Amino acid sequence: MRRGQVPWETLEKAAAARFSNWKYKALDLSELGRMFKENEPIEVGAVVEYFDGGIVIDERFETGVAGLYAAGECALGPFGANRVCSAITEMLVHGADAGRNAGEYAGKNGTRKLDGRAFRPLEEEAERPLVRQSRLKPAQVRRRVQEMAHKSLGPIREKEELTGFIAFLDGVSKDELPHLGTTSKSRIYNKEWLDAIELRNMVHLLKTSAVSALHRTESRGVHYREDCPYTDNDNWLQENIIKLNNGALVVSRRPVTITSLMPPKGKVPFLDMMKKMMQSRSDIGGHTKKAKARRLETKVIVLLALCSMLSTPCSTIAREIACLGKKSM
Ligand SMILES: Cc1cc2nc3c(=O)[nH]c(=O)nc-3n(C[C@H](O)[C@H](O)[C@H](O)COP(=O)(O)OP(=O)(O)OC[C@H]3O[C@@H](n4cnc5c(N)ncnc54)[C@H](O)[C@@H]3O)c2cc1C
Repeated sequence: MRRGQVPWETLEKAAAARFSNWKYKALDLSELGRMFKENEPIEVGAVVEYFDGGIVIDERFETGVAGLYAAGECALGPFGANRVCSAITEMLVHGADAGRNAGEYAGKNGTRKLDGRAFRPLEEEAERPLVRQSRLKPAQVRRRVQEMAHKSLGPIREKEELTGFIAFLDGVSKDELPHLGTTSKSRIYNKEWLDAIELRNMVHLLKTSAVSALHRTESRGVHYREDCPYTDNDNWLQENIIKLNNGALVVSRRPVTITSLMPPKGKVPFLDMMKKMMQSRSDIGGHTKKAKARRLETKVIVLLALCSMLSTPCSTIAREIACLGKKSM
């Protein structure tokens, strides 16, 4: 794989503007620089940075369960279909407020005496993989679930694939989760046991996300439906709310709160809109040769930043950079 049409000088200039001597904070990227320079293939891969959506909360961070508060990435916070600014700030500010409100609630309501027996069925459920003699290993099932999620529930979705994925998850819940068994029966730092416990939650959350993605027959934010490639403000200026009701996931909708800017009415082709947004960004936009060169530099910086975030090098960055060179020059 070749770096292609991006001249090394452009890359080096872009890197120097951001990462002096290929150093960024505590990261030494000089080996990466050498690989770019010598056209050595570099592996890249997608990572998840943020989960949009989450537990429904009110302005006091209260959930639907009295006394239970949520804040940060797990909650349905200030962002809509796409995170538009710092998640760390969100988590710090909202976490402090939620903590304060939870403290107030506890102060007023005191603590309840818990009946230990109420937890016994949950404990037994969690302990089953330790006592069960089974060859079905949590790590194997987890890996398959992750691979299927990566394939079917990435940022690009489509009806058939989502439907197939939901059926796959139902199959895992019915035929595999009840039969998981750990090799080691130790209760002390047993990673396999943790995998088995987490897998149940993982499958449940994936199904919730997939049902919601299937329900939303439009594209918006980080949710792109290949079979519905437009943003539909007439029908979909709405949030999906999913509840577990007698074991079934029930989807309802509620309108979004609009405070100042009114989104346009009608359907807008999603990819065209994204392209326009990218082009209108003052730091990368415009059509002059200089602006195009700046745009390429920005993309190269983004790719370099992406590389710096990855702990495992992977395969397509050279090809990506070659494509960027072709598209932008
Ligand atoms: C690669 C990457 C890059 C990112 N870059 C940025 C960035 O540049 N800027 C930015 O603003 N945001 C960034 N983010 C997002 C940001 O880091 C997260 O949104 C933020 O840290 C979320 O904080 P949180 O406290 O809500 O959740 P978390 O940090 O996920 O904290 C949840 C904690 O709960 C613990 N936990 C989970 N289950 C249990 C359990 N059953 N019992 C006890 N503990 C449990 C977990 O171990 C974890 O410590 C990035 C995220 C990633 C993954």
